[in-house]
Amino acid sequence: MKIGILALQGAVREHRRILQRLGVETPDVLNPEDLDGIDGLILPGGESTAVGKLLVRYNLLEPIAELGRKGLPIFGTCTGLILLSKHINNSEQYRLGLMDTHVERNAFGRQLASFEADMPIPVLGDTPFHTIFIRAPYIDSIGGNVRVLLSYQDKILFAEQDNFLAAAFHPELTDDTRVHEYFLSKLSKQLI
Ligand code: GLN
Repeated sequence: MKIGILALQGAVREHRRILQRLGVETPDVLNPEDLDGIDGLILPGGESTAVGKLLVRYNLLEPIAELGRKGLPIFGTCTGLILLSKHINNSEQYRLGLMDTHVERNAFGRQLASFEADMPIPVLGDTPFHTIFIRAPYIDSIGGNVRVLLSYQDKILFAEQDNFLAAAFHPELTDDTRVHEYFLSKLSKQLI
């Protein structure tokens, strides 16, 4: 199985480390040709305005959006969640616009710019997941068939819609592989 990792900027190595532990090949995606033959794609954290501009410059924005519309499983963390969203509050920045979500960027304010907490996430089983937030966005409203997987005080922090998965936190910064395994389970559904 091959999961491409968008490697324009951000936490690429950390995702690779977790996926390699799960026995997955992880080609870097830097050019449209790198999308050939991948079974899924990870959009890592970084800075979403910058990554959006780089996606345009490297001719990746439309090819990735097109593959997503055709059913390619895509998992976005943090910046990736922002790029997956159709609506970004008060921003015209570039995006893939694949999920029916409204996103608020840098939404936790200065005091809480970065924080960690153990959160119960029912789809991952009974043990809480150690969530790490870094200048995180959250989803403030959803449409379509978006399914909420974690919310806290009305802020949606983990959600899925069809072949898309989006997390406001950084599972790649933990040693817990459950979120990535959940993403891989979406792939096997796609292949049936
Ligand atoms: N605040 C960043 C943005 O708007 C996201 C931060 C992250 O990916 N850790 O893109």
